[in-house]
Amino acid sequence: MSLCSDLIKGSDEKTLEDLTSNVKQIQDNVLEEILTLNANTEYLERFLHGSSDKELFKKNVPVVTYEDVKPFIDRLANGESSDIISGNPITGFLLSSGTSGVKRKMFPRTNKYLENLKFIYCYRSLVISKHIDGLEHGKGMVFNFCTPENTTPSGLPSAAATTSFFKSDYFKNRPSCWHWSFTSPDEVILCPDTNQTLYCHLLCGIVQRNEVVKVGAAFVSILLRAIIFLENFWKEICTNIRYGHLSEWITDTSCRESVSKILGEPNPELADLIENECNKKSWEGIIPRLWPKTKFIESIATGQMAQHIPTLEFYSNKLPLISSSYVSSETMFGINMSPLCKPKDVSYTFMPNFSYFEFLLVDAGDHKVEIVDLVDVKLGCYYEPLVTNHSGLHRYKMGDILQVTGFYNNAPQFRFVRRGNLTLSVNMEVTTDADLLNAVTHAKVVLESSDLMLMDFTSYADISTSPGHYVLYWELKAKYNNDIADQLDNKVLVECCYVVEESLNSFYRDYRSREGSIGALEIRVVQQGSFDAVMEFFISQGASSTQYKTPICIKSSEALGILEKRVHARFFTDKSLSS
Ligand code: AMP
Repeated sequence: MSLCSDLIKGSDEKTLEDLTSNVKQIQDNVLEEILTLNANTEYLERFLHGSSDKELFKKNVPVVTYEDVKPFIDRLANGESSDIISGNPITGFLLSSGTSGVKRKMFPRTNKYLENLKFIYCYRSLVISKHIDGLEHGKGMVFNFCTPENTTPSGLPSAAATTSFFKSDYFKNRPSCWHWSFTSPDEVILCPDTNQTLYCHLLCGIVQRNEVVKVGAAFVSILLRAIIFLENFWKEICTNIRYGHLSEWITDTSCRESVSKILGEPNPELADLIENECNKKSWEGIIPRLWPKTKFIESIATGQMAQHIPTLEFYSNKLPLISSSYVSSETMFGINMSPLCKPKDVSYTFMPNFSYFEFLLVDAGDHKVEIVDLVDVKLGCYYEPLVTNHSGLHRYKMGDILQVTGFYNNAPQFRFVRRGNLTLSVNMEVTTDADLLNAVTHAKVVLESSDLMLMDFTSYADISTSPGHYVLYWELKAKYNNDIADQLDNKVLVECCYVVEESLNSFYRDYRSREGSIGALEIRVVQQGSFDAVMEFFISQGASSTQYKTPICIKSSEALGILEKRVHARFFTDKSLSS
Protein backbone atom coordinates (compact mmCIF):
# COMPACT_ATOMS: atom_id res chain seq x y z
CA MET A 1 0.00 0.00 0.00
CA SER A 2 2.76 2.44 0.94
CA LEU A 3 4.42 1.62 -2.36
CA CYS A 4 1.56 3.15 -4.30
CA SER A 5 1.30 6.23 -2.07
CA ASP A 6 5.01 6.90 -2.50
CA LEU A 7 4.71 6.53 -6.21
CA ILE A 8 1.82 8.95 -6.39
CA LYS A 9 3.86 11.47 -4.45
CA GLY A 10 6.61 11.02 -7.03
CA SER A 11 4.20 11.29 -9.95
CA ASP A 12 6.95 11.67 -12.47
CA GLU A 13 8.41 9.93 -15.43
CA LYS A 14 10.99 8.11 -13.35
CA THR A 15 8.22 6.40 -11.41
CA LEU A 16 6.71 5.06 -14.62
CA GLU A 17 10.10 3.89 -15.81
CA ASP A 18 10.75 2.13 -12.48
CA LEU A 19 7.35 0.50 -12.41
CA THR A 20 7.58 -0.82 -15.94
CA SER A 21 11.17 -1.99 -15.48
CA ASN A 22 10.75 -3.89 -12.21
CA VAL A 23 7.63 -5.81 -13.13
CA LYS A 24 8.61 -9.17 -11.68
CA GLN A 25 9.77 -7.76 -8.36
CA ILE A 26 6.70 -5.53 -7.94
CA GLN A 27 4.28 -8.35 -8.87
CA ASP A 28 6.00 -10.62 -6.33
CA ASN A 29 5.67 -7.93 -3.67
CA VAL A 30 2.01 -7.34 -4.46
CA LEU A 31 1.20 -11.04 -4.17
CA GLU A 32 3.14 -11.33 -0.94
CA GLU A 33 1.35 -8.29 0.48
CA ILE A 34 -2.08 -9.70 -0.44
CA LEU A 35 -1.37 -13.21 0.84
CA THR A 36 0.09 -11.99 4.11
CA LEU A 37 -2.93 -9.78 4.59
CA ASN A 38 -5.53 -12.36 3.62
CA ALA A 39 -4.03 -15.71 4.65
CA ASN A 40 -6.34 -16.01 7.65
CA THR A 41 -9.53 -14.99 5.90
CA GLU A 42 -12.23 -17.63 5.74
CA TYR A 43 -11.92 -17.67 1.94
CA LEU A 44 -8.17 -18.37 1.70
CA GLU A 45 -7.91 -20.44 4.88
CA ARG A 46 -9.77 -23.25 3.09
CA PHE A 47 -7.02 -23.53 0.47
CA LEU A 48 -3.87 -22.32 2.21
CA HIS A 49 -4.49 -23.24 5.86
CA GLY A 50 -2.99 -19.96 7.05
CA SER A 51 0.10 -20.11 4.81
CA SER A 52 1.07 -17.19 2.58
CA ASP A 53 3.30 -19.27 0.35
CA LYS A 54 3.09 -18.18 -3.28
CA GLU A 55 3.60 -21.60 -4.81
CA LEU A 56 0.88 -23.07 -2.62
CA PHE A 57 -1.37 -20.21 -3.73
CA LYS A 58 -0.83 -21.16 -7.38
CA LYS A 59 -1.31 -24.84 -6.67
CA ASN A 60 -4.34 -24.73 -4.39
CA VAL A 61 -6.37 -21.59 -4.96
CA PRO A 62 -8.93 -22.14 -7.71
CA VAL A 63 -9.65 -19.89 -10.67
CA VAL A 64 -13.12 -18.48 -10.04
CA THR A 65 -15.97 -16.59 -11.67
CA TYR A 66 -18.40 -14.18 -10.07
CA GLU A 67 -20.86 -16.91 -9.16
CA ASP A 68 -18.16 -18.61 -7.04
CA VAL A 69 -17.42 -15.54 -4.93
CA LYS A 70 -20.94 -14.13 -4.83
CA PRO A 71 -21.96 -15.99 -1.64
CA PHE A 72 -19.09 -14.33 0.22
CA ILE A 73 -19.91 -10.91 -1.24
CA ASP A 74 -23.57 -11.33 -0.27
CA ARG A 75 -22.57 -12.22 3.27
CA LEU A 76 -20.43 -9.07 3.47
CA ALA A 77 -23.28 -6.96 2.11
CA ASN A 78 -25.53 -8.46 4.75
CA GLY A 79 -23.25 -7.39 7.55
CA GLU A 80 -20.61 -10.06 8.14
CA SER A 81 -17.11 -8.86 8.94
CA SER A 82 -14.63 -7.94 6.15
CA ASP A 83 -12.27 -10.67 7.26
CA ILE A 84 -14.26 -13.44 5.62
CA ILE A 85 -12.43 -12.43 2.44
CA SER A 86 -10.11 -9.52 3.12
CA GLY A 87 -7.57 -8.49 5.73
CA ASN A 88 -8.25 -4.88 4.77
CA PRO A 89 -11.49 -3.23 5.89
CA ILE A 90 -14.15 -3.27 3.16
CA THR A 91 -15.34 0.34 2.92
CA GLY A 92 -18.01 -0.06 0.27
CA PHE A 93 -19.08 -1.91 -2.86
CA LEU A 94 -18.57 -1.21 -6.53
CA LEU A 95 -21.32 -1.96 -9.00
CA SER A 96 -20.01 -3.15 -12.34
CA SER A 97 -21.81 -3.05 -15.63
CA GLY A 98 -22.21 -6.83 -15.32
CA THR A 99 -21.87 -9.40 -18.06
CA SER A 100 -24.25 -12.26 -18.54
CA GLY A 101 -25.68 -12.30 -15.07
CA VAL A 102 -29.26 -11.65 -14.18
CA LYS A 103 -28.07 -9.06 -11.71
CA ARG A 104 -25.42 -6.41 -11.80
CA LYS A 105 -22.19 -7.56 -10.16
CA MET A 106 -21.12 -6.05 -6.89
CA PHE A 107 -17.49 -6.04 -5.76
CA PRO A 108 -16.12 -5.21 -2.33
CA ARG A 109 -13.81 -2.23 -2.29
CA THR A 110 -11.05 -1.11 0.03
CA ASN A 111 -9.27 2.24 -0.04
CA LYS A 112 -6.56 0.65 -2.15
CA TYR A 113 -9.00 0.65 -5.08
CA LEU A 114 -9.53 4.41 -4.83
CA GLU A 115 -5.79 4.94 -4.43
CA ASN A 116 -5.19 2.99 -7.64
CA LEU A 117 -7.82 5.03 -9.42
CA LYS A 118 -6.16 8.24 -8.26
CA PHE A 119 -2.88 6.83 -9.52
CA ILE A 120 -4.33 6.18 -12.96
CA TYR A 121 -5.79 9.68 -13.22
CA CYS A 122 -2.38 11.15 -12.34
CA TYR A 123 -0.30 9.03 -14.61
CA ARG A 124 -2.43 9.06 -17.70
CA SER A 125 -2.40 12.87 -17.49
CA LEU A 126 1.36 12.77 -17.13
CA VAL A 127 1.75 10.59 -20.21
CA ILE A 128 -0.59 12.76 -22.30
CA SER A 129 1.18 15.97 -21.31
CA LYS A 130 4.46 14.41 -22.44
CA HIS A 131 3.00 14.08 -25.92
CA ILE A 132 0.94 17.26 -26.24
CA ASP A 133 2.33 20.71 -25.45
CA GLY A 134 0.63 23.67 -23.90
CA LEU A 135 -1.90 21.93 -21.67
CA GLU A 136 -0.81 23.50 -18.38
CA HIS A 137 -3.02 26.57 -18.58
CA GLY A 138 -5.98 25.03 -20.35
CA LYS A 139 -9.06 23.36 -18.97
CA GLY A 140 -10.82 20.08 -19.65
CA MET A 141 -14.52 19.91 -20.46
CA VAL A 142 -15.11 16.41 -19.15
CA PHE A 143 -18.49 14.75 -18.91
CA ASN A 144 -18.14 13.14 -15.50
CA PHE A 145 -21.22 11.93 -13.64
CA CYS A 146 -22.33 10.39 -10.37
CA THR A 147 -25.10 7.82 -10.42
CA PRO A 148 -27.29 7.36 -7.33
CA GLU A 149 -25.63 5.48 -4.48
CA ASN A 150 -27.36 2.58 -2.73
CA THR A 151 -26.76 1.22 0.74
CA THR A 152 -26.32 -2.48 1.49
CA PRO A 153 -28.18 -4.06 4.44
CA SER A 154 -24.87 -3.76 6.31
CA GLY A 155 -24.97 0.01 5.81
CA LEU A 156 -22.09 0.27 3.34
CA PRO A 157 -22.42 2.38 0.18
CA SER A 158 -22.59 0.67 -3.21
CA ALA A 159 -22.10 2.65 -6.40
CA ALA A 160 -20.34 2.64 -9.76
CA ALA A 161 -16.56 2.95 -9.43
CA THR A 162 -16.38 6.51 -10.76
CA THR A 163 -19.23 7.62 -8.48
CA SER A 164 -17.41 6.17 -5.45
CA PHE A 165 -14.28 7.99 -6.54
CA PHE A 166 -15.89 11.38 -7.20
CA LYS A 167 -17.62 11.25 -3.83
CA SER A 168 -14.42 10.38 -1.99
CA ASP A 169 -11.70 12.54 -0.48
CA TYR A 170 -9.35 11.16 -3.11
CA PHE A 171 -11.18 13.28 -5.67
CA LYS A 172 -11.93 16.21 -3.39
CA ASN A 173 -8.26 16.56 -2.45
CA ARG A 174 -6.96 15.62 -5.86
CA PRO A 175 -3.31 16.39 -6.42
CA SER A 176 -1.90 18.96 -8.79
CA CYS A 177 -0.51 16.13 -10.93
CA TRP A 178 -3.88 16.03 -12.69
CA HIS A 179 -2.34 18.78 -14.85
CA TRP A 180 -5.49 20.63 -15.77
CA SER A 181 -8.68 21.73 -14.14
CA PHE A 182 -12.22 21.14 -15.29
CA THR A 183 -14.57 23.73 -16.78
CA SER A 184 -17.30 22.39 -14.48
CA PRO A 185 -17.23 22.84 -10.72
CA ASP A 186 -17.31 19.65 -8.61
CA GLU A 187 -20.93 20.39 -7.69
CA VAL A 188 -21.94 19.59 -11.28
CA ILE A 189 -20.25 16.20 -11.17
CA LEU A 190 -21.80 15.42 -7.78
CA CYS A 191 -25.36 16.36 -8.82
CA PRO A 192 -27.44 13.14 -8.82
CA ASP A 193 -29.64 14.19 -11.77
CA THR A 194 -28.01 13.22 -15.08
CA ASN A 195 -29.85 15.80 -17.19
CA GLN A 196 -28.93 18.67 -14.89
CA THR A 197 -25.32 17.49 -14.86
CA LEU A 198 -25.15 17.22 -18.65
CA TYR A 199 -26.76 20.61 -19.19
CA CYS A 200 -24.42 22.31 -16.71
CA HIS A 201 -21.31 20.60 -18.11
CA LEU A 202 -22.20 21.96 -21.56
CA LEU A 203 -23.09 25.42 -20.32
CA CYS A 204 -19.87 25.77 -18.28
CA GLY A 205 -17.86 24.42 -21.21
CA ILE A 206 -19.39 26.91 -23.64
CA VAL A 207 -18.93 29.88 -21.34
CA GLN A 208 -15.23 29.01 -20.97
CA ARG A 209 -14.86 27.86 -24.56
CA ASN A 210 -11.58 29.66 -25.17
CA GLU A 211 -9.87 27.88 -22.30
CA VAL A 212 -10.89 24.34 -23.29
CA VAL A 213 -7.91 22.28 -24.47
CA LYS A 214 -9.39 18.84 -23.88
CA VAL A 215 -12.86 17.34 -24.24
CA GLY A 216 -13.45 14.07 -22.44
CA ALA A 217 -15.80 11.39 -21.13
CA ALA A 218 -15.14 7.95 -19.72
CA PHE A 219 -16.44 6.27 -22.88
CA VAL A 220 -17.05 7.58 -26.41
CA SER A 221 -20.74 6.65 -26.17
CA ILE A 222 -21.11 9.15 -23.32
CA LEU A 223 -19.49 11.90 -25.38
CA LEU A 224 -21.86 11.26 -28.27
CA ARG A 225 -24.75 11.36 -25.88
CA ALA A 226 -23.57 14.81 -24.74
CA ILE A 227 -23.48 16.05 -28.33
CA ILE A 228 -26.99 14.80 -29.02
CA PHE A 229 -28.10 16.47 -25.80
CA LEU A 230 -26.52 19.71 -27.04
CA GLU A 231 -28.46 19.40 -30.32
CA ASN A 232 -31.63 19.43 -28.22
CA PHE A 233 -30.61 22.12 -25.74
CA TRP A 234 -28.31 24.63 -27.47
CA LYS A 235 -31.07 27.21 -27.92
CA GLU A 236 -31.85 27.14 -24.22
CA ILE A 237 -28.15 27.32 -23.33
CA CYS A 238 -27.79 30.39 -25.59
CA THR A 239 -30.77 32.06 -23.91
CA ASN A 240 -29.16 31.43 -20.50
CA ILE A 241 -25.94 33.03 -21.75
CA ARG A 242 -27.73 35.96 -23.42
CA TYR A 243 -29.55 36.95 -20.23
CA GLY A 244 -27.07 35.68 -17.64
CA HIS A 245 -29.76 33.54 -16.05
CA LEU A 246 -29.71 29.78 -15.52
CA SER A 247 -32.83 27.78 -16.51
CA GLU A 248 -35.20 27.23 -13.62
CA TRP A 249 -35.19 23.45 -14.03
CA ILE A 250 -31.62 23.37 -12.71
CA THR A 251 -32.90 22.87 -9.19
CA ASP A 252 -29.97 21.15 -7.46
CA THR A 253 -28.99 23.97 -5.11
CA SER A 254 -25.21 23.55 -5.03
CA CYS A 255 -25.11 22.94 -8.74
CA ARG A 256 -27.24 26.01 -9.42
CA GLU A 257 -25.15 28.30 -7.22
CA SER A 258 -21.80 27.24 -8.60
CA VAL A 259 -22.90 27.26 -12.25
CA SER A 260 -24.61 30.65 -11.92
CA LYS A 261 -21.26 32.10 -10.81
CA ILE A 262 -19.56 30.71 -13.91
CA LEU A 263 -22.38 31.92 -16.16
CA GLY A 264 -21.88 35.47 -14.86
CA GLU A 265 -23.30 38.58 -16.53
CA PRO A 266 -25.44 38.59 -19.70
CA ASN A 267 -23.26 37.91 -22.74
CA PRO A 268 -25.23 38.48 -25.97
CA GLU A 269 -22.08 38.35 -28.17
CA LEU A 270 -21.24 34.84 -27.01
CA ALA A 271 -24.89 33.77 -27.36
CA ASP A 272 -24.93 35.08 -30.98
CA LEU A 273 -21.70 33.31 -31.80
CA ILE A 274 -22.89 29.95 -30.47
CA GLU A 275 -26.29 30.33 -32.12
CA ASN A 276 -24.61 31.07 -35.41
CA GLU A 277 -22.50 27.89 -35.22
CA CYS A 278 -25.29 25.61 -34.01
CA ASN A 279 -27.74 26.96 -36.59
CA LYS A 280 -25.54 25.82 -39.46
CA LYS A 281 -27.08 22.98 -41.39
CA SER A 282 -24.38 20.45 -40.68
CA TRP A 283 -22.87 19.69 -37.30
CA GLU A 284 -19.75 18.31 -38.88
CA GLY A 285 -16.76 19.47 -36.80
CA ILE A 286 -18.99 20.99 -34.12
CA ILE A 287 -16.48 20.24 -31.36
CA PRO A 288 -13.59 22.31 -32.74
CA ARG A 289 -16.07 24.93 -33.97
CA LEU A 290 -17.47 25.50 -30.49
CA TRP A 291 -14.22 24.81 -28.60
CA PRO A 292 -11.57 26.08 -31.00
CA LYS A 293 -8.52 25.42 -28.80
CA THR A 294 -9.29 21.74 -28.21
CA LYS A 295 -6.14 19.74 -28.76
CA PHE A 296 -7.52 16.25 -28.15
CA ILE A 297 -10.40 14.13 -26.97
CA GLU A 298 -9.83 11.74 -24.07
CA SER A 299 -12.34 8.91 -24.05
CA ILE A 300 -12.17 5.13 -24.27
CA ALA A 301 -12.70 4.13 -27.89
CA THR A 302 -11.47 0.53 -27.78
CA GLY A 303 -13.51 -2.66 -27.39
CA GLN A 304 -17.23 -2.22 -27.90
CA MET A 305 -16.73 1.56 -28.11
CA ALA A 306 -14.88 1.31 -31.42
CA GLN A 307 -18.22 1.20 -33.28
CA HIS A 308 -18.75 4.89 -32.37
CA ILE A 309 -15.44 6.22 -33.69
CA PRO A 310 -16.71 7.29 -37.17
CA THR A 311 -19.56 9.30 -35.62
CA LEU A 312 -17.22 10.98 -33.17
CA GLU A 313 -14.76 11.79 -35.95
CA PHE A 314 -17.56 13.50 -37.83
CA TYR A 315 -18.25 15.81 -34.90
CA SER A 316 -14.59 16.31 -33.97
CA ASN A 317 -13.05 16.76 -37.41
CA LYS A 318 -10.77 13.90 -36.46
CA LEU A 319 -9.12 15.57 -33.48
CA PRO A 320 -6.70 13.14 -31.79
CA LEU A 321 -8.78 10.61 -29.87
CA ILE A 322 -7.01 9.21 -26.81
CA SER A 323 -8.07 5.98 -25.09
CA SER A 324 -5.94 6.54 -22.04
CA SER A 325 -6.57 3.63 -19.71
CA TYR A 326 -8.03 0.20 -19.19
CA VAL A 327 -9.92 -0.07 -15.92
CA SER A 328 -12.72 -2.07 -14.30
CA SER A 329 -14.58 -2.44 -11.02
CA GLU A 330 -12.27 -5.33 -10.14
CA THR A 331 -8.99 -3.46 -10.64
CA MET A 332 -7.10 -0.94 -12.72
CA PHE A 333 -5.04 -2.61 -15.45
CA GLY A 334 -3.00 -0.24 -17.54
CA ILE A 335 -2.21 2.99 -19.29
CA ASN A 336 -1.84 3.82 -22.97
CA MET A 337 1.78 4.97 -23.24
CA SER A 338 1.41 6.10 -26.89
CA PRO A 339 -1.65 8.30 -26.54
CA LEU A 340 -1.45 9.74 -30.04
CA CYS A 341 -1.56 6.42 -31.86
CA LYS A 342 -4.60 5.57 -33.98
CA PRO A 343 -7.58 4.11 -32.04
CA LYS A 344 -7.14 0.73 -33.72
CA ASP A 345 -3.51 0.53 -32.58
CA VAL A 346 -4.14 1.28 -28.91
CA SER A 347 -2.47 -0.98 -26.37
CA TYR A 348 -2.45 -0.69 -22.62
CA THR A 349 0.73 -1.15 -20.62
CA PHE A 350 -0.09 -3.09 -17.49
CA MET A 351 1.08 -1.46 -14.26
CA PRO A 352 2.37 -4.15 -11.87
CA ASN A 353 1.44 -2.25 -8.70
CA PHE A 354 -2.35 -2.36 -9.19
CA SER A 355 -3.11 -6.04 -8.49
CA TYR A 356 -1.50 -9.43 -8.97
CA PHE A 357 -2.15 -10.47 -12.56
CA GLU A 358 -2.14 -13.94 -14.08
CA PHE A 359 -3.23 -14.92 -17.58
CA LEU A 360 -5.19 -17.80 -18.96
CA LEU A 361 -4.12 -18.70 -22.48
CA VAL A 362 -7.18 -18.49 -24.69
CA ASP A 363 -6.19 -20.13 -27.92
CA ALA A 364 -4.70 -23.31 -26.51
CA GLY A 365 -5.86 -25.80 -29.16
CA ASP A 366 -5.13 -28.78 -26.96
CA HIS A 367 -7.46 -27.43 -24.24
CA LYS A 368 -4.74 -27.66 -21.59
CA VAL A 369 -5.34 -24.84 -19.18
CA GLU A 370 -2.16 -22.83 -19.07
CA ILE A 371 -1.84 -19.98 -16.60
CA VAL A 372 1.14 -17.65 -16.76
CA ASP A 373 2.41 -14.66 -14.81
CA LEU A 374 2.43 -11.11 -16.17
CA VAL A 375 6.13 -11.33 -17.00
CA ASP A 376 5.66 -14.60 -18.88
CA VAL A 377 3.03 -13.67 -21.46
CA LYS A 378 4.13 -14.14 -25.07
CA LEU A 379 3.95 -11.65 -27.90
CA GLY A 380 0.96 -12.20 -30.17
CA CYS A 381 -0.86 -14.60 -27.83
CA TYR A 382 -4.42 -14.12 -26.59
CA TYR A 383 -5.18 -14.23 -22.88
CA GLU A 384 -7.93 -13.74 -20.36
CA PRO A 385 -6.63 -11.91 -17.25
CA LEU A 386 -7.09 -13.38 -13.77
CA VAL A 387 -7.10 -10.83 -10.98
CA THR A 388 -5.98 -11.15 -7.38
CA ASN A 389 -6.69 -7.79 -5.78
CA HIS A 390 -6.50 -6.12 -2.36
CA SER A 391 -10.26 -6.35 -1.80
CA GLY A 392 -10.78 -10.09 -1.62
CA LEU A 393 -10.77 -11.39 -5.20
CA HIS A 394 -8.34 -14.25 -5.80
CA ARG A 395 -7.64 -15.58 -9.31
CA TYR A 396 -10.83 -14.00 -10.58
CA LYS A 397 -11.62 -14.53 -14.27
CA MET A 398 -12.21 -11.13 -15.86
CA GLY A 399 -13.99 -12.28 -19.00
CA ASP A 400 -12.03 -9.88 -21.22
CA ILE A 401 -9.89 -11.18 -24.06
CA LEU A 402 -6.58 -9.40 -24.66
CA GLN A 403 -3.68 -9.82 -27.06
CA VAL A 404 -0.05 -9.10 -26.26
CA THR A 405 1.26 -6.48 -28.69
CA GLY A 406 4.62 -5.54 -27.19
CA PHE A 407 6.50 -4.47 -24.09
CA TYR A 408 7.20 -1.11 -22.50
CA ASN A 409 10.47 -1.79 -20.69
CA ASN A 410 9.48 -5.13 -19.10
CA ALA A 411 5.78 -4.43 -18.81
CA PRO A 412 3.61 -6.24 -21.33
CA GLN A 413 1.24 -4.22 -23.48
CA PHE A 414 -2.15 -5.57 -24.43
CA ARG A 415 -4.69 -4.76 -27.10
CA PHE A 416 -8.27 -5.10 -25.92
CA VAL A 417 -9.84 -7.71 -28.21
CA ARG A 418 -13.34 -8.20 -26.84
CA ARG A 419 -15.54 -8.66 -23.86
CA GLY A 420 -16.18 -12.38 -23.60
CA ASN A 421 -19.91 -12.35 -24.18
CA LEU A 422 -21.13 -8.84 -24.84
CA THR A 423 -23.68 -8.11 -27.53
CA LEU A 424 -25.50 -4.83 -26.98
CA SER A 425 -24.98 -1.76 -24.85
CA VAL A 426 -26.17 1.84 -25.17
CA ASN A 427 -25.40 3.07 -21.68
CA MET A 428 -23.32 1.17 -19.15
CA GLU A 429 -25.48 -1.96 -19.25
CA VAL A 430 -24.35 -5.16 -20.91
CA THR A 431 -26.75 -7.40 -22.83
CA THR A 432 -25.47 -10.72 -24.10
CA ASP A 433 -26.55 -12.98 -26.95
CA ALA A 434 -28.17 -15.23 -24.40
CA ASP A 435 -30.10 -12.35 -22.80
CA LEU A 436 -31.42 -11.21 -26.14
CA LEU A 437 -32.35 -14.67 -27.38
CA ASN A 438 -34.20 -15.38 -24.19
CA ALA A 439 -36.10 -12.08 -24.41
CA VAL A 440 -37.08 -12.59 -28.04
CA THR A 441 -38.26 -16.11 -27.25
CA HIS A 442 -40.69 -14.64 -24.72
CA ALA A 443 -41.95 -12.11 -27.24
CA LYS A 444 -42.55 -14.84 -29.83
CA VAL A 445 -45.27 -16.21 -27.59
CA VAL A 446 -47.12 -12.92 -27.94
CA LEU A 447 -46.53 -12.87 -31.69
CA GLU A 448 -48.08 -16.28 -32.06
CA SER A 449 -51.37 -14.91 -30.83
CA SER A 450 -51.58 -13.27 -34.28
CA ASP A 451 -51.05 -14.90 -37.63
CA LEU A 452 -47.36 -14.01 -37.73
CA MET A 453 -44.10 -15.93 -37.41
CA LEU A 454 -40.68 -14.51 -36.71
CA MET A 455 -38.41 -15.69 -39.53
CA ASP A 456 -35.19 -14.03 -38.56
CA PHE A 457 -33.98 -11.18 -36.43
CA THR A 458 -30.98 -9.14 -35.49
CA SER A 459 -30.30 -6.15 -33.29
CA TYR A 460 -28.41 -2.92 -33.10
CA ALA A 461 -27.65 -0.38 -30.38
CA ASP A 462 -28.87 2.94 -31.74
CA ILE A 463 -27.11 5.79 -29.96
CA SER A 464 -28.07 8.44 -32.50
CA THR A 465 -31.13 9.12 -30.34
CA SER A 466 -30.93 10.60 -26.86
CA PRO A 467 -31.04 8.47 -24.83
CA GLY A 468 -29.85 5.58 -27.00
CA HIS A 469 -32.15 2.61 -27.49
CA TYR A 470 -32.19 -0.97 -28.73
CA VAL A 471 -33.46 -1.66 -32.23
CA LEU A 472 -34.54 -5.13 -33.31
CA TYR A 473 -34.99 -5.86 -37.01
CA TRP A 474 -37.67 -8.50 -37.45
CA GLU A 475 -38.54 -10.34 -40.60
CA LEU A 476 -42.04 -11.71 -40.30
CA LYS A 477 -44.11 -14.08 -42.33
CA ALA A 478 -47.85 -14.53 -42.24
CA LYS A 479 -48.78 -18.10 -41.42
CA TYR A 480 -51.74 -18.24 -43.79
CA ASN A 481 -51.31 -15.34 -46.05
CA ASN A 482 -48.54 -14.04 -48.28
CA ASP A 483 -49.03 -10.42 -47.47
CA ILE A 484 -48.07 -9.43 -43.96
CA ALA A 485 -49.09 -5.79 -44.36
CA ASP A 486 -52.67 -6.33 -43.20
CA GLN A 487 -51.56 -8.64 -40.40
CA LEU A 488 -49.37 -6.10 -38.63
CA ASP A 489 -51.38 -5.46 -35.55
CA ASN A 490 -49.98 -2.42 -33.76
CA LYS A 491 -51.14 -3.66 -30.38
CA VAL A 492 -49.41 -7.03 -30.74
CA LEU A 493 -46.09 -5.61 -31.90
CA VAL A 494 -46.00 -2.90 -29.26
CA GLU A 495 -46.64 -5.61 -26.70
CA CYS A 496 -43.74 -7.62 -28.19
CA CYS A 497 -41.43 -4.61 -27.63
CA TYR A 498 -42.53 -4.48 -24.03
CA VAL A 499 -42.11 -8.21 -23.44
CA VAL A 500 -38.57 -8.13 -24.86
CA GLU A 501 -37.67 -5.31 -22.48
CA GLU A 502 -39.31 -6.98 -19.49
CA SER A 503 -37.34 -10.15 -20.23
CA LEU A 504 -33.92 -8.47 -20.42
CA ASN A 505 -31.56 -8.51 -17.44
CA SER A 506 -32.10 -6.39 -14.36
CA PHE A 507 -29.31 -4.02 -15.21
CA TYR A 508 -31.03 -3.10 -18.49
CA ARG A 509 -34.38 -2.74 -16.75
CA ASP A 510 -32.83 -0.67 -14.00
CA TYR A 511 -31.38 1.84 -16.46
CA ARG A 512 -34.49 1.76 -18.62
CA SER A 513 -36.72 2.67 -15.69
CA ARG A 514 -34.52 5.70 -14.91
CA GLU A 515 -35.44 8.64 -17.07
CA GLY A 516 -32.94 9.59 -19.74
CA SER A 517 -30.75 6.48 -19.50
CA ILE A 518 -32.12 4.08 -22.13
CA GLY A 519 -34.94 4.88 -24.56
CA ALA A 520 -37.92 2.69 -25.50
CA LEU A 521 -37.01 -0.46 -27.40
CA GLU A 522 -37.97 -0.41 -31.09
CA ILE A 523 -38.93 -3.22 -33.44
CA ARG A 524 -38.44 -2.43 -37.13
CA VAL A 525 -40.28 -4.87 -39.34
CA VAL A 526 -38.40 -5.48 -42.57
CA GLN A 527 -39.63 -6.82 -45.92
CA GLN A 528 -39.36 -10.48 -46.67
CA GLY A 529 -36.02 -11.42 -48.14
CA SER A 530 -34.16 -8.76 -46.17
CA PHE A 531 -32.10 -11.28 -44.22
CA ASP A 532 -31.20 -13.11 -47.42
CA ALA A 533 -29.83 -9.83 -48.72
CA VAL A 534 -27.81 -9.42 -45.51
CA MET A 535 -26.49 -12.96 -45.83
CA GLU A 536 -25.45 -12.33 -49.43
CA PHE A 537 -23.63 -9.23 -48.31
CA PHE A 538 -21.69 -11.08 -45.59
CA ILE A 539 -20.84 -13.89 -47.95
CA SER A 540 -19.56 -11.33 -50.47
CA GLN A 541 -17.30 -10.11 -47.65
CA GLY A 542 -15.82 -13.56 -47.12
CA ALA A 543 -18.24 -15.30 -44.72
CA SER A 544 -18.66 -19.02 -45.30
CA SER A 545 -21.91 -19.79 -47.09
CA THR A 546 -22.26 -23.15 -45.37
CA GLN A 547 -21.65 -21.94 -41.83
CA TYR A 548 -23.39 -18.60 -42.10
CA LYS A 549 -25.53 -17.58 -39.14
CA THR A 550 -27.34 -14.29 -38.86
CA PRO A 551 -25.43 -12.28 -36.27
CA ILE A 552 -27.55 -11.51 -33.23
CA CYS A 553 -26.16 -8.02 -33.26
CA ILE A 554 -25.01 -6.20 -36.39
CA LYS A 555 -22.29 -3.59 -36.29
CA SER A 556 -21.49 -3.29 -40.02
CA SER A 557 -22.96 -0.05 -41.37
CA GLU A 558 -23.39 -1.59 -44.85
CA ALA A 559 -25.41 -4.50 -43.46
CA LEU A 560 -27.50 -2.12 -41.39
CA GLY A 561 -28.05 -0.03 -44.51
CA ILE A 562 -29.41 -3.10 -46.31
CA LEU A 563 -31.96 -3.64 -43.54
CA GLU A 564 -32.79 0.05 -43.18
CA LYS A 565 -33.77 0.28 -46.87
CA ARG A 566 -36.27 -2.51 -46.32
CA VAL A 567 -37.99 -1.28 -43.14
CA HIS A 568 -41.71 -0.96 -43.61
CA ALA A 569 -43.04 -0.48 -40.09
CA ARG A 570 -41.71 0.63 -36.69
CA PHE A 571 -43.04 -0.08 -33.21
CA PHE A 572 -41.94 1.13 -29.78
CA THR A 573 -42.71 0.12 -26.21
CA ASP A 574 -45.39 2.53 -25.05
CA LYS A 575 -45.31 2.01 -21.32
CA SER A 576 -42.70 2.34 -18.64
CA LEU A 577 -40.85 -0.61 -17.27
CA SER A 578 -40.94 -1.81 -13.71
CA SER A 579 -37.35 -1.64 -12.40
P1 AMP B 1 -16.98 -2.08 -15.23
O1 AMP B 1 -16.48 -3.06 -14.24
O2 AMP B 1 -18.43 -1.94 -15.31
O3 AMP B 1 -16.27 -0.77 -15.08
O4 AMP B 1 -16.55 -2.61 -16.66
C1 AMP B 1 -15.24 -2.99 -16.91
C2 AMP B 1 -15.16 -3.53 -18.29
O5 AMP B 1 -15.24 -2.45 -19.25
C3 AMP B 1 -13.85 -4.18 -18.58
O6 AMP B 1 -13.78 -5.49 -18.06
C4 AMP B 1 -13.83 -4.12 -20.07
O7 AMP B 1 -14.64 -5.13 -20.63
C5 AMP B 1 -14.45 -2.75 -20.36
N1 AMP B 1 -13.36 -1.75 -20.49
C6 AMP B 1 -12.82 -0.99 -19.55
N2 AMP B 1 -11.81 -0.24 -20.06
C7 AMP B 1 -11.73 -0.57 -21.37
C8 AMP B 1 -10.90 -0.16 -22.43
N3 AMP B 1 -9.95 0.76 -22.27
N4 AMP B 1 -11.09 -0.71 -23.65
C9 AMP B 1 -12.07 -1.62 -23.84
N5 AMP B 1 -12.89 -2.05 -22.88
C10 AMP B 1 -12.72 -1.53 -21.65
